[in-house]
Amino acid sequence: MAEVLDIVVVGGGINGAGIARDAAGRGLSVLLCEKSDLASATSSASTKLIHGGLRYLEYYEFRLVREALIEREVLLRAAPHIIWPLRFVLPHSKGLRPAWMIRLGLFLYDHLGGRKLLPASAGIDLRQHPAGAPLEADLRKAFVYSDCWVQDSRLVVLNAMDAAERGAEVLTRVECLSARRDGDRWRVVLRDCRNGAQREVVARALVNAAGPWTAEFIEQRAGLNKGLPLRLVKGSHIVVPKLFEHAFPYIFQNPDGRIVFAIPYEDDFTLIGTTDVDFTGDPAEVAITAEETRYLCDAVNAYFKRKIAPDDVVWTYSGVRPLYDDAAESAAAATRDYVLQLDQGDGRAPLLSVFGGKITTFRRLAEHALAKLEDALGPLGAPWTAGAALPGGDMPDADFEGCLARFGQAHPWLPARLARRYLRNYGTRAERLLAGATALDGLGEHLGDGLYAAELGYLLRHEWAETADDVLWRRSKLGLHVSDATKQKIAAWLAREGAAAVRQETA
Ligand SMILES: Cc1cc2nc3c(=O)[nH]c(=O)nc-3n(C[C@H](O)[C@H](O)[C@H](O)COP(=O)(O)OP(=O)(O)OC[C@H]3O[C@@H](n4cnc5c(N)ncnc54)[C@H](O)[C@@H]3O)c2cc1C
Repeated sequence: MAEVLDIVVVGGGINGAGIARDAAGRGLSVLLCEKSDLASATSSASTKLIHGGLRYLEYYEFRLVREALIEREVLLRAAPHIIWPLRFVLPHSKGLRPAWMIRLGLFLYDHLGGRKLLPASAGIDLRQHPAGAPLEADLRKAFVYSDCWVQDSRLVVLNAMDAAERGAEVLTRVECLSARRDGDRWRVVLRDCRNGAQREVVARALVNAAGPWTAEFIEQRAGLNKGLPLRLVKGSHIVVPKLFEHAFPYIFQNPDGRIVFAIPYEDDFTLIGTTDVDFTGDPAEVAITAEETRYLCDAVNAYFKRKIAPDDVVWTYSGVRPLYDDAAESAAAATRDYVLQLDQGDGRAPLLSVFGGKITTFRRLAEHALAKLEDALGPLGAPWTAGAALPGGDMPDADFEGCLARFGQAHPWLPARLARRYLRNYGTRAERLLAGATALDGLGEHLGDGLYAAELGYLLRHEWAETADDVLWRRSKLGLHVSDATKQKIAAWLAREGAAAVRQETA
């Protein structure tokens, strides 16, 4: 008789990884399968903000905003290497939202979530403030407020790592082909996408965190009736060479009532997004249209002195929000809150499906998911993630620059840019990557543009990286910085070392 797992989680985006981590930490036996790379779908295509969502106040989403505001500081403490505070500048534009309305919104934003670490909002004079310099001269007044930045796909990987370190089996490039109830168990068929090999596992509960494929999973893979309505909403971003030198991101109001962010990105760039367009089709094929690119260029051109055109765009990415369909009139108005559906069939073998949710709220969503599963499975252990660091997040103090200075002193041979990148990506786990090296030579082969074999080996062994895209676009955003020659060398290195690791495992 096959081992009976407590929970099989389908989907290695932020919600699946977060639920797997929480469940594994409660001592449950967990298997997570992801058909592609971790965070290969929506969870690497976000605006990368841990935020309350100022604009959701206009839609009276007070529950969501409050939960998300509280989560900002919880997550900042858990992963200060990949999450950091930002001060957003919201220029006041005549004819758009009146200043009193913005002030009221920011007052609520400051107070709804019991803020302790992040500074409060304030009014600024753009003629005096560094954020005013790149803007059109008729913009005089603005507001600044706090939210946080997150390396979204790294947050997913760190949750998966923590889950694995607490005993979960994490399988990437393994698809859940089908699932069927068998009494009070699920029989789940998994297929290795690399070689087609199939395996059946048995579980007490199944979690469907398939993101944009949530409805497909319920109807086609689990063979059940329609789940709750899902609304797929596309959002695209463009990246251009940097439009300003200072560190303040902007949030611009658009005449259509939407907002667009312009955020300092990867040192040399500005990230601009997003759009909100209803989506049909295959979520794996989502891509920006010329119309969306034009929309984003026009949106920021209304504010910056320096104008941009589609030809300035160096990279784009698009994602599909898997939203719970609350029948809102427009895609922008559709609720960003999450809904968890528990299907218990004949009272046994629960299927829990996730609709909606934000990167920001993944941890609370996981707690709610486990509370729902408790209704079906009985007590599952107490919530524990609120005070727990994610891998690498156990930094000795809250001041990242202080930690960086100490890291630099401990490894004086590391070039400053590399030391910063290692600490930002890996936190305290950077020491494992360095593995006692005392000189650059100790990091092994240099594949170009500051990428050494030691880092690739770490990503291969600990972070499920298998291809050059995994490394360049999800474990990092080095894809924006490295040459084609380096990309090819990375691909060749991973193919060689990955195959060697598989040979070793099967020997
Ligand atoms: C443009 C945009 C901007 C956003 N900005 C923000 C932001 O700034 N802040 C914020 O908090 N949130 C933001 N969000 C929302 C956030 O990104 C999503 O809510 C979140 O990433 C959804 O995560 P998920 O795990 O539900 O889905 P996904 O990340 O899509 O993960 C689902 C996974 O399931 C896998 N899968 C599907 N079917 C199977 C199967 N049969 N077998 C195995 N695996 C399967 C898929 O490959 C996929 O990786 C944004 C979203 C978009 C689109």
